[in-house]
Amino acid sequence: MEFLLEISYLVATVFFIICLKMLSSPETARKGNVIGGIGMAMAVVATMFLYKSPEGKTVGNYIWIIAAMAVGTVTGLLSAKKVKMTAMPQMVAIFNGMGGACSALIGLVEFPGSLDDPSKTVGLSAIFASIIVGSVTFSGSLIAYAKLNGNIKKDIRLPYYNVLNTLLIIVILGLMVCLLLHNIDNPPPWIYLLTVISLIYGVLFVFPIGGADMPVVIAWLNSLSGIAAMFAGYIYGNLGMIVCGILVGASGIILTVAMCNAMNRSLVNVFFTAFGGGGGRGSGSTITDKTVKEISMSDSAVLLYYSKSVVMVPGYGLAVAQAQHALHELETLLEKNGVDVTYAIHPVAGRMPGHMNVLLAEAKVEYDKLIEMDTINPRFPNTDVVIVVGANDVVNPAANTDPSSPIYGMPILEVNKAGKVIVIKRSMAAGYAGIENHLFYDTKTSMLFGDAKKVISGLAEEVKKF
Ligand code: NDP
Repeated sequence: MEFLLEISYLVATVFFIICLKMLSSPETARKGNVIGGIGMAMAVVATMFLYKSPEGKTVGNYIWIIAAMAVGTVTGLLSAKKVKMTAMPQMVAIFNGMGGACSALIGLVEFPGSLDDPSKTVGLSAIFASIIVGSVTFSGSLIAYAKLNGNIKKDIRLPYYNVLNTLLIIVILGLMVCLLLHNIDNPPPWIYLLTVISLIYGVLFVFPIGGADMPVVIAWLNSLSGIAAMFAGYIYGNLGMIVCGILVGASGIILTVAMCNAMNRSLVNVFFTAFGGGGGRGSGSTITDKTVKEISMSDSAVLLYYSKSVVMVPGYGLAVAQAQHALHELETLLEKNGVDVTYAIHPVAGRMPGHMNVLLAEAKVEYDKLIEMDTINPRFPNTDVVIVVGANDVVNPAANTDPSSPIYGMPILEVNKAGKVIVIKRSMAAGYAGIENHLFYDTKTSMLFGDAKKVISGLAEEVKKF
């Protein structure tokens, strides 16, 4: 039995690794997801039916477990089917939070003992770590959800929040040490205090982070949910859970670092300084004396049709409008006329890592047409027309030129270096960072106002007339 269980975990682990590998490309991501799911199902079933504790007890409680699984499966299926593509990041935040809550609950249930581990101090440390990291992940993810969902619109910063947060960490670690030294056969209520303080820390940790820094926070919380699961797995000596937690934790950290690099920010900078030096959303210089130039649908179509090279820059608005299929159709029509069309992908465009890749893959845009920021930027001076579709922050030149801007220092797609720029959006409203965009007032830029899907479909119809 034990041998079979270990083999099942090993096979599940291989499935997880294949899944991660396949998730790194939109072409294989769907299949990778299914393989990961099969691996997880295998690990769960094996644990339920093959696990025996050192005292020879089987898992038992099958009715409860199956009932809980049924509730979870139905809720997961329904919410995954109902969720809009634009609300995906919130859903990811909730999933991260649920993972954290599970690990924290496991730690609470298992305190003070029933540990497989021979050294109780190590086992107890795992329990505390599971409670602390799980609770921080849970409450932090709820705040991230509320921010992404627009329920919390301001980046709330208490006075001296960095000092307060550091003090909370010291209190948490101090409590943990006290509990480790306490008589563990007589659990004190302090364990609940530890949980509550960790929950408060999670809230205060995410509250002040704002501007365009949320991608980093989401990736970090994702990583924390894995780390919490790893500690929870250690409590049970469950190899499958430990490996799965490590994979999520490690890939989350890699993603966090990638996000930081993409925004030219260090992790310390994101977590301990308010974006834009405390200004939060809406700071940066304002534009009062300039007007924008508009362009008509037919003039835009002519411009695009007779260009040699066109770069499309998708952003969050593409996801809102679900304009990816229309965009792909326009691309195909232009290419038939010999126009070279590519897509410029900014790493934090949209509201989750890889958001634009997922949307464009769904519309069956060829993967080699998606060009990363570092590769496309030197090509803009030789590009005839850039068409910005619902992107704003990721093309805002203030990131390069305005030190007072909340996004100063973030690498951007330097579309203002192209011959002409057409910006498609519904109004002059700001993007996620809440700041004005000087690109819209550039002499090279023309605004084509409207919903991205309607405008792009309209452009395709115009192009068909040629
Ligand atoms: P932005 O949020 O900067 O701008 C999106 C623009 O889309 C808005 O200005 C809006 O203008 C326009 N828009 C909205 N709906 C439509 C529509 N139906 N049709 C046409 N346009 C529309 O998006 P970007 O992609 O440029 O930048 C992403 C931002 O989100 C960055 O600041 C990033 O840091 C942040 N972020 C990214 C995450 C990630 O992981 N990728 C996670 C969390 C935040 P209007 O209302 O006038 O139409």
